[in-house]
Amino acid sequence: MARYTAAVCRLCRRSGEKLMLKGSRCFTPKCTMDRRGKPPGQQSGQRRRISDRGLQLREKQKARYSYGILERQFRRFFAQAERQLGITGENLLVLLERRLDNVVYRLGFADSRAQARQLVRHGHIMLNGRKTDIPSCLVKEGDTISWKPESTKTEYYKQLVQSIEGRSVLSWLSLDRQNLAGRVLLLPTPDDIDAKFDGKTIVEFYSR
Ligand code: SF4
Repeated sequence: MARYTAAVCRLCRRSGEKLMLKGSRCFTPKCTMDRRGKPPGQQSGQRRRISDRGLQLREKQKARYSYGILERQFRRFFAQAERQLGITGENLLVLLERRLDNVVYRLGFADSRAQARQLVRHGHIMLNGRKTDIPSCLVKEGDTISWKPESTKTEYYKQLVQSIEGRSVLSWLSLDRQNLAGRVLLLPTPDDIDAKFDGKTIVEFYSR
């Protein structure tokens, strides 16, 4: 499956914002945005004027980069959001948040969405007791997310059990810290999501 493989810190610099794509590194002085926040290739420090269309494109790209998905799949999510009742920008946000890789990340099983995606792709995660290796799969209310029994023997899992103590999860999720099992209590609302992009601007981008 196609995915972005170049340096992810470039995506933050291109967006002009810390998108927190590298887990714990994003909180350290090693963060590239903290060291040199200019867009890639821009050395002088002079900022170019960005058109309205450019701003809309930037919002759309920020959403894509944040959830680590490519254009074609993002368009599919957008089309699905348009078909639903309600506000398309908010529907899109909720759909993205319901992705299995995002939920694994939100439960604290991974440091970043990229790592969560890898855990799912490598078959470590079970959805409702069944192995699921599709990161874009959407969770529903009442779904349970747990680890494959074989994966609980790995060093990563053992360290995670210790490090996850005391970590909080979002209000729409619950976490059994001893067994590292999560549950979707409710579907998220836009207010539950600390989005780094504006859904309305993305709708404007695709409305042209
Ligand atoms: Fe972005 Fe994190 Fe890289 Fe900083 S360390 S530039 S926040 S991905």
